[in-house]
Amino acid sequence: MSIQQNIQELRKHIPSNVRLVCVSKFHPNEAVMEAYDCGERVFGESKVQELCGKYETLPKDISWHYIGHLQTNKIKLLVPFVDLIHGVDSYKVLEEINKHALKAGKVVNCLLQVHIATEETKFGFSPEELMETLSDGKWRDLSGIRICGFMGMATYTDNRNQVSAEFHTLKDLFDRVKLQYFNDVDSFKELSMGMSDDFELAIEEGSTLVRIGSSIFGNRNYQT
Ligand SMILES: *Cc1c(COP(=O)(O)O)cnc(C)c1O
Repeated sequence: MSIQQNIQELRKHIPSNVRLVCVSKFHPNEAVMEAYDCGERVFGESKVQELCGKYETLPKDISWHYIGHLQTNKIKLLVPFVDLIHGVDSYKVLEEINKHALKAGKVVNCLLQVHIATEETKFGFSPEELMETLSDGKWRDLSGIRICGFMGMATYTDNRNQVSAEFHTLKDLFDRVKLQYFNDVDSFKELSMGMSDDFELAIEEGSTLVRIGSSIFGNRNYQT
């Protein structure tokens, strides 16, 4: 199936209140343009260098999301143009984004990544760390960042119940934090969860942003 056909198929499964982030990492500009020509405007990348290259060469009305792990020394490259950073996984990273955002005279939209999977390797705040970071309140002084919600990745497993339960945990946490800290903040509304293999479960559990790569663009060739 072509990229266009994949997108048309995918759209049947994504309700209008959920946004699609087309994850174009490791795929060339031509692939991005095929999705663009179908009307897609939100693209996600997980390598800073690759993202910057695509930003420079592709249409300027694309909304670029950074979905990878952040190294503090690369943040300043993203700040000028990134629309949403999904994977903020420490207070230090938040401070670093803030610093560059203030220098650039911008407010950068961020999602805090929460560790919901059982695997040790996935990045993110544990729910306890997240609650501690929020309750200590220092983040309120960071006027260069806007916390728009959370991002999470479920365990890589065939056990659908487990995946659903992990997404449910994140949605629960989101609702509690919204009530306690962001009740009057309209921009705190995003829950980024769900990838090619589990986005339907994520949507059932309240996702607002699904990050989908291989179901659109096919398998990634990590050699290139
Ligand atoms: C690569 C990636 C995706 C997309 O994964 P697919 O399984 O190809 O849909 C989503 N989220 C993150 C954080 C990723 O790194």
